[in-house]
Amino acid sequence: MIICPVCANKNELTISHIAVVEQSQRVLCLMCNCAFISPLPLERPVYDGKYNAEFCKPSERNKAIVMAQEIQLWLGYGYDGPPVLEVGPGNGWTLAEMAKLGIPCMGVETDPLWATQLSHENLITVHGCGFENLPDEKKYGIIYSSHVIEHLPSPIPYLEKAKMLLTEGGRIIIDTPDLDCPRRLTADWHHFQTRTPFEHLCVLSKQAIGVAAAITGLKLAYFRRAIQYESFLAVLVA
Ligand SMILES: [Zn+2]
Repeated sequence: MIICPVCANKNELTISHIAVVEQSQRVLCLMCNCAFISPLPLERPVYDGKYNAEFCKPSERNKAIVMAQEIQLWLGYGYDGPPVLEVGPGNGWTLAEMAKLGIPCMGVETDPLWATQLSHENLITVHGCGFENLPDEKKYGIIYSSHVIEHLPSPIPYLEKAKMLLTEGGRIIIDTPDLDCPRRLTADWHHFQTRTPFEHLCVLSKQAIGVAAAITGLKLAYFRRAIQYESFLAVLVA
């Protein structure tokens, strides 16, 4: 049986086929407007240093600067409260730029070797463990992730964990592909054409992130589409 990983819809009349992906299929949930893989493959892509090194292109440097500045705007100048946590910092450059702006910040990265390398190269703190394994006691002012949650089978456990780690008045900032961007949703959309077809397991839309927020007791406080990347930035609050 196919079950939507966002809204738990399992009515096959409201689940539409997009593409066959090896032994699985990519489908669209018409109830919450997300695209997901079902069933999940037994073998998942590996997100190690080799994967992340692909994102160390010069063009990424400017994106990191712009994002660090935006996070500073959300926090306010001179912020010295609970740190910003970046989940899956990739090349580490956004963290490095935030540190330059004097923003207290740290990262969490699943591959411990890559986490160590990022820490040394960028003089930043990156914990080498899964996000889900971070201790719940430590709180963060902003939990930011860019192009991370679409790699998870469902955004719900991520949002539950992030909500737990958020300080009072904190924000969850999510940058992820936007299912509403392609004019026609087909198998060859570039956010479906990844290194392995099982990288983007659950792609969201404005509606889907709103549903995911409501399920986890969060509110969608801000939404902005980035047409050039076919992605969106959403800010969720408790
Ligand atoms: Zn759904």
